[in-house]
Amino acid sequence: MTDRALPFPDSLCHRCAERRVVAGARSSFLLCSAGEDRYPRQPVVTCPLFRPADPAVTDDRDR
Ligand code: SF4
Repeated sequence: MTDRALPFPDSLCHRCAERRVVAGARSSFLLCSAGEDRYPRQPVVTCPLFRPADPAVTDDRDR
């Protein structure tokens, strides 16, 4: 786990079950496991593939 802030905190992806976080050496990237575009243009505001994340997950930075 890292103390680094996640990118694009307002992105819809952070509330989506398809979001993954890829930690780079100096920054983190949001990866989508649902669509063909693995790195959608951020911040995502609307998405037809959105699937609500499990609300029980409170610290999901390492999903
Ligand atoms: S499905 Fe849409 S909202 Fe979910 S992570 Fe992918 S791009 Fe983001």
